[in-house]
Amino acid sequence: TEQTLVLVKPDGVSRGLTGTILARIEAKGYSIVELRQLRATRELLEQHYAEHAGKPFFEPLVEFMLGGPIVAAVFEGQRVIEGFRSLAGSTEPTTAAPGTIRGDLGRDWGVSVQQNLVHGSDSAESAEREIGIWFA
Ligand code: ATP
Repeated sequence: TEQTLVLVKPDGVSRGLTGTILARIEAKGYSIVELRQLRATRELLEQHYAEHAGKPFFEPLVEFMLGGPIVAAVFEGQRVIEGFRSLAGSTEPTTAAPGTIRGDLGRDWGVSVQQNLVHGSDSAESAEREIGIWFA
């Protein structure tokens, strides 16, 4: 069995979608093993998004993630990393497939960064690293 880090980003929390999003992941059959709401710090986000440092959207992304509370969760289950990414849908909410979290609940708000409701780890290595950052 495997674990992944899921974040409900500030747009998801402020729109009151936390319960809906967590329920969709649980309904798929994955279990919550850790759950907390917090405000991120710049240091935490710089670690989390280290691979994007220097990209044009990096600073707007950090500002967006600092803009409100975030819900961080660790979910567990067989192939949960891939499974959650499939549930989340592709990066751009406007074109993410219907049936996915981003496709059903998100759209493009015309801002300088994708406000796409959720984050999920993209590999076992990322999951281990990110769980260590958000649940130190
Ligand atoms: P996915 O891999 O499904 O896109 P992700 O959250 O892992 O999800 P990353 O490529 O790691 O996506 O990018 C992190 C976040 O940065 C995205 O979720 C999005 O909020 C933002 N982002 C990524 N690429 C862009 C871009 N070209 N313009 C604006 N924001 C972006």
